[in-house]
Amino acid sequence: MIRKFLSVTLLFFAFVLIDAIHVFAASSPVTSRKIVIDPGHGGTDWGSTECPGLAEKDANLDISRRLQELLANDGAQVLMTRTDDSYKSNNDRYTQANQFGGQVLVSVHLNGSTNHTKNGTLGLYGKRNKDLEFAKTLHQRMVSEVGVPDLGITNFASGVLLKANMPATIAETVFISNTAECSLLTDGTGNRQQKIAQSLYYGISDWFAR
Ligand SMILES: [Zn+2]
Repeated sequence: MIRKFLSVTLLFFAFVLIDAIHVFAASSPVTSRKIVIDPGHGGTDWGSTECPGLAEKDANLDISRRLQELLANDGAQVLMTRTDDSYKSNNDRYTQANQFGGQVLVSVHLNGSTNHTKNGTLGLYGKRNKDLEFAKTLHQRMVSEVGVPDLGITNFASGVLLKANMPATIAETVFISNTAECSLLTDGTGNRQQKIAQSLYYGISDWFAR
């Protein structure tokens, strides 16, 4: 009798536990979504080199990896168009994204200028109908989370944006060339990179929660 009671009790807790896991896994808007992260530049293409000691290509990959982890923790299916310091053409990037069947694509960049006072966050879209709303959704989060001026949303005829079948945006998240931003990005803590990744994660979640 006691054994039966114990096994029924154990069974009860097992169901509670399974249910708790189920609720936890289903609690995020990005769970099971197919998300493409496209770390900008790579290999011989360095991106901006206006922050001493930190090339844009490396910062893009760092932020992208953090974003990948945040999304994967919620059970999203994530494709990274590059996972190391290798050169990828636009064709490589959108072909991978389309073959994967991504539902959205975010190309992760830091803006660069020879004017080291230039500051702000900028969203880029390719096709108005396909990309604009997605670009806006991510950009709004960047503006509210990252604490830099709002440089708005601009059309940009990038092959990655135009030829990816899914809503896509290039996030020019912050200016790596800005003196204060460069200091934050090279302070060794990774906090700034994490903040940017977190903001992109919130933006993608907003998109799927609509
Ligand atoms: Zn770039």
